[in-house]
Formats: sequence, structure tokens, C-alpha cells
Amino acid sequence: MTSPVTRFAPSPTGRLHLGNVRTALFNYLLARREGGRFLLRIEDSDRARGGEELLEALLVDLRWLGLDWDAGPGAEDERGPYRQSDRDALYAEAYARLERGGRAYPCFCSALELEVSRKTQLAAGQPPRYAGTCRDLDAEARAARIRDGRQPSLRFLVESGQTVSFNDLVRGPQAFVSDDLGDFVIRRADGAPMFFFCNALDDALMRVTHVLRGEDHLSNTPRQLLLLEALGMSVPAYGHLPLLLGREGRPLSKREDSASLHQMRQAGFLPAALLNYLLRLGHAGAPDGWVEPVDLPSAFHLDKVGRAPAHFDEAQLLHWQREAVNRLNAVALAAWIAPAVAELGPDRLATLAAVAGRNLNFPTEAPDWAGVLFGELPPVQPEATLAIQEAGPAFFAAALEAYDSEGPDLAKIAALVRTRTGCKGARLYMPLRAALTGLTHGPELAPLLRAMEPHLLRRRLAAQAGHAGETV
Ligand code: GLU
Repeated sequence: MTSPVTRFAPSPTGRLHLGNVRTALFNYLLARREGGRFLLRIEDSDRARGGEELLEALLVDLRWLGLDWDAGPGAEDERGPYRQSDRDALYAEAYARLERGGRAYPCFCSALELEVSRKTQLAAGQPPRYAGTCRDLDAEARAARIRDGRQPSLRFLVESGQTVSFNDLVRGPQAFVSDDLGDFVIRRADGAPMFFFCNALDDALMRVTHVLRGEDHLSNTPRQLLLLEALGMSVPAYGHLPLLLGREGRPLSKREDSASLHQMRQAGFLPAALLNYLLRLGHAGAPDGWVEPVDLPSAFHLDKVGRAPAHFDEAQLLHWQREAVNRLNAVALAAWIAPAVAELGPDRLATLAAVAGRNLNFPTEAPDWAGVLFGELPPVQPEATLAIQEAGPAFFAAALEAYDSEGPDLAKIAALVRTRTGCKGARLYMPLRAALTGLTHGPELAPLLRAMEPHLLRRRLAAQAGHAGETV
């Protein structure tokens, strides 16, 4: 294969979500894997819906995930501009060429006329397609309509009796009958280009070799193939990815904010976790275990992208988040939790990150652990209360004495308490953990003990020992 040129071509009409980010990732990996180029093209030809903030947000999201583009906004090259709203002259030139070659013609049919024609065809049991009303208008008839003030759309002329076929990179051989397409509009009456027209033309002009995109675009492909062929331009290989379905089996949508990349970033998901998760969505070529972001391209195999719809699975995502958190070093852990515990100074932040960082799924869990180490206990959990009650005040009196004589050394404290109370194993460690943290699970106890403010540690043991005046 010659070096592939791939692209991600989002329309800035909403936030990126997992579904379209997967499309971006697969295109990115396909290019990176083969030493090719990955382009970013902004499909804002439908200007009414786009917005500068959404565009900026999209770039931020992609950069955060590490999907850097070789050319695109902020990295223009001779194939640009990379925003469709800056490419009108190129579209105009292609329209003119199609008209000159007799492959496109102005259509003056009104919306009402088209609707009536559609209904008539349906009533007669025929598939609705353009009836060809304006196809053979001569120059004079066209001029007369323009004089009447009618604004024509531009239609592409589809020759009948053709089969449009291509080999989909994901779905295999595809064939469409041109008669089912009918002559289709490529420029609206108000002059706005149709999305699929710009999309196909830009792929050809940017010399894109592979297009991986959502299968909701499959029906555009035969029209795009016909257009490019009529323009004498090269056609990319298309691969249509199955949709990503959300919780209720519906496709994830840009407006369903729950799975937007932005929200996931705010929640503290790590980019490497998302990348590992996305790599496996509808792609069976990845190894079972963790893949470092730099190794993602070699873990991607286009022939292992499946046709079955992929389902969003929160448990899987959380699994990769845990894996990613476990791989953060102390500095990265501290940076990750810092926004959630902004009031901590640098020393306490570093301590918290070192002691409890790897036990967190999300930074929002950090304040509770800051409380355990330096302030107030979060509400004591019922299982913890139970463990405390089962151990009884004498156990904690022994623990407090041991702490006072040995300092925050878990092994020494445990040895003394064992001797005094006969408790061992979980019956020894669980009540200690419960009294000191309010939980029956959490980070390793020994470093926790060393990091905890001494007066808090004493107070918590004393309170359970039933010493007057002590509360947790
Ligand atoms: N702008 C289109 C979209 O966001 C891109 C389609 C394509 O990748 O060809 O769905």
C-alpha cells in the first residue's frame, strides 16, 4: 500500500462524542500505522449551524486526546484551506465544469412540485426519484424561468441503467442501481452546496486515499462516486463503520451530552483510557492488555474492523480508566487530582497523590481522601461501623496505646494489638482501617498511617476506644 492519506471531517455542529471520536481515531491510526498523513477538514459548508466556539472546542478535544493532524486548521498546506467555508471558489469551479460537460443542469421545480411528484410516484407504487422535469429544458426555457425570478437548484444528471459498485473496506462489495438514485441536487436554490458534494470533491482535491466514516453515510457513497467519475477525479477507498449504540440501543448523538468528550474530560477520564477503550470498539485486532498510546497504530488492523454495531459499555470504559490511572506517575497523579483539591498546598497534594492517587477512579473522589488524611472523615460507611462495633472499645484502646508507644508504624502497632487482643488477619486490620478511614477498603494502610495527621489518627482511635470527649 502506498502511504495512505486519511482525514477526519467533522461538522462543527456539536461537541465530539465517542462515536465520532472513534471515527477520528481509526482514520488517525490507519495513517500513522503506514507512515501516511492524517488531515483534519472542517465541514462547515452548512454555515448556519456551525459556530466558532464549537470549532475551537473540537480542536481542543482532539488535541487533548492526542490525535494530532498533519494538516488542517492551524497547519495549512497546499491542499488547504481546510475549512469548507473557505473553499467556495473550488466548488464553483466544479459546478461550472459539470454544467459545461452536460453533467449538471439547473432545476426550477418548486418544493411543492417536487412533493406532488413524489406522492404521485409513491401512490403508483414506484420508488420516489426526480422525474426529470427540468432535464431537457432548452436555453430559452431556462432564461424565461430566470426572468420570472425563479432561482434554480443544480442537479447532477444520472445516466440510467448503470450499476455503481465499490468494495467497502469494512462491509465488502457494494452495488447500487443508478435508476434508484435519480438526478440529485448538488447545489441548493439558495446557492448553498450540498454536503456530500463538497465532501467528495474535497477528498479528491486533498488526495485522500482512505475514508473511514459512519455507516450513516453509506447512502451518499454511490452519488459521490458518480460525481467524482464525472469530474475525472480519483476516488478514495471508502469504509463505513458500524454505528456506536448508546444505552437504549440508539446511536450516540452529538446532542446527547452524556458521552461528549468534553464532559468525559471534565469528569477526569484520562486520554489513554479513552484511546484504549475506543481501539476496541468494533475492532477485534487489539491485544487483550493495555496498549500505550504510542503503540496504538501498530495495534490497529483495518481488516479486523467488524460490521456489527458496537455498544457503549461503561464497565469496559471504567476498566481502562483504572488501567490508565495505575500507570500515572506521582507527578501526573498529583496534576490529575489537583483541580479537585485546589485548597491543598503542594506538600499535602503530593502526599495525597502518593498515598491514595492510584485508588481513585476520578479526581472527584480525592476530597474524601484529603479529609481522611488531613481533616474530617467522610460519613462512615455501614460496613465500617459494623467492623468497629465487632472489634469493640478494648481493641481500640489497645491500638491507641500501641500508636502512642510505637508511632505510625503499622507492623509494630499490629504486633502489639495482636498480642493484647488475640485478633489477627482481617479482624485486626479491618477495624483499624474502618476507624481511621470510615471505609473497609482503600489504599494500603501502612503508608496511609504514616501520612495521616497524628492528631487525627489519635482522635479517631480514641473516639472508638470510648474515651470521653473524643469524636471522629
Ligand atoms: N461531515 C461529515 C460528518 O460529520 C463527514 C462525513 C465523512 O466523513 O465523509 O458526518
